[in-house]
Amino acid sequence: LRSVNIRPERSAAIPDKLQDQGGLADGVAREVARDLGVAEADVYGVASFYHLLARPDKKVRVCTGLSCKLAGADGVLEACEEAGLPVEGISCLAGCDVPPAVLRNRRVLPRVTVEDVARAEGDWEKLTSEGSENEWQGYVGPEGVSGDQLALDLLGEPDWSAAGYRAAKEMGPDGVLDALEASGLQGRGGAGFPAHIKWRGVRGQAEQVRYVVLNADEGEPGTFKDREVMLRRPDRVIEGLAIAAHTVGAQDVYLYLRGEFEVPWKAIERAIETLSDAFDGIRFHMHAGQGAYICGEETALIEALEGKRGMPRLKPPFPVEKGLWQKPTLVHNVETIACLPAILARGGPWFENLGRTEPGTKLYCVSGHVARPGTYELPLGVSLDELVEAAGGYVGNLKAFSPGGASSGFLPASERTRPLAFKSLGEAGSMLGSAGVVVLNDTVDMRTAVLDELRFFEDESCGQCAPCRIGTYYLRESLARHMSGTGDADHLAHVADAAWQMNEGSICGLGQAAPLPLTSALQHFPEDFKE
Ligand code: SF4
Repeated sequence: LRSVNIRPERSAAIPDKLQDQGGLADGVAREVARDLGVAEADVYGVASFYHLLARPDKKVRVCTGLSCKLAGADGVLEACEEAGLPVEGISCLAGCDVPPAVLRNRRVLPRVTVEDVARAEGDWEKLTSEGSENEWQGYVGPEGVSGDQLALDLLGEPDWSAAGYRAAKEMGPDGVLDALEASGLQGRGGAGFPAHIKWRGVRGQAEQVRYVVLNADEGEPGTFKDREVMLRRPDRVIEGLAIAAHTVGAQDVYLYLRGEFEVPWKAIERAIETLSDAFDGIRFHMHAGQGAYICGEETALIEALEGKRGMPRLKPPFPVEKGLWQKPTLVHNVETIACLPAILARGGPWFENLGRTEPGTKLYCVSGHVARPGTYELPLGVSLDELVEAAGGYVGNLKAFSPGGASSGFLPASERTRPLAFKSLGEAGSMLGSAGVVVLNDTVDMRTAVLDELRFFEDESCGQCAPCRIGTYYLRESLARHMSGTGDADHLAHVADAAWQMNEGSICGLGQAAPLPLTSALQHFPEDFKE
């Protein structure tokens, strides 16, 4: 597809046009192609990549993420099928704290039950749940912690004064960069890369057309914090973006939100309307993702923004040098951006001192077998026990936990006091990632949990690297055969070899991380794999 010369102004319009028409229904690809003057095959090629565009007839989608499965998602999916609803399973909906989550058209319904499905009487438009009118806000905490000690302060009132942006203007770009460096802020999307290095990288480019991109394509199973930031503190997100644009010299900011984030979208839109006059003509452009986990990878996201299939690029060059439309581009996760106003208002050292083992506070999402799943702002480096205490305690006896979503694999209960931080978890062969902590008690068979995660990676691989495309299938199939006891072979004999090849031969982090749920479970819970 990349060899096809689609003009930028046309290619960006493809997903929008397709979305307007509800996705790839009969004849739509031809119509869109005619309208835009591009080949029908290109339109079809793009649309068929994205779950929401490829099958517009599926009006109900039940989340098949691990936390939703623990809460009965399989039963809800089965009930929908039996009721004749146009249903399918979908990868994580970022509703792990309100499970099982179900997408009805473009609206996420929290805590859907089999009884809710029965009440719909076979009509998908009538499907609803008790929580569906509450604007989809989950629990945030801990309560009683002063906003003075918090960078994100999700329980605080929005602040529309744009004080952080004014401070940034007074300090000038170099002053902002120094404050950012002093804060020690690391990217909160998963990699933990020092933010100031990226900023200096973009600002230092000779090319004067530069962009800022917000990555709000939150889709890692176990993670739902960005949803809460956008719902509760959209002021911080928009102000943070303006500070970033002002500092790196960008005039245009692109916001890429999950298409399923209908309610957060409205909150962000309102914040742009309220604040944008204060930002010296910086322009904000919103884009709805169309259902592809891989678009959370920054170069895949850029491809998607350009109107193509969301396939990660080979790096280098990195986006700071050649990003959106081949221009220098600063891409940041929602949480990272939302930290900025407080850092500028209170200074870098204030932020740095908030952390315990690494700088700052961190939004931890916790779900699974805990009393009060939710989003908790705590010092970076708290332990699992401390996090779960804030979340009301464990349900049952702790067996395992996933500290940073599916990509982080599983750790045993003996690691419960390890700091949940970038460095410390890396030393344990895991990662903090986006801090989507999923807790499993001793009723869980690790093979089942691993199988769910492997299926997720297989579904979401973009397919361009053979080790990832074949390896995700191979690992899932190997475990499934092991579990069903097919034949006498040791179906798990080649897992380590496949994992090594995936790690070495994949372009992006998905292929590299995909084996981890299985390899970590084999290492820490060998007894679950004996039969
Ligand atoms: Fe696509 Fe997997 Fe390769 Fe990443 S590793 S680019 S998801 S095929």
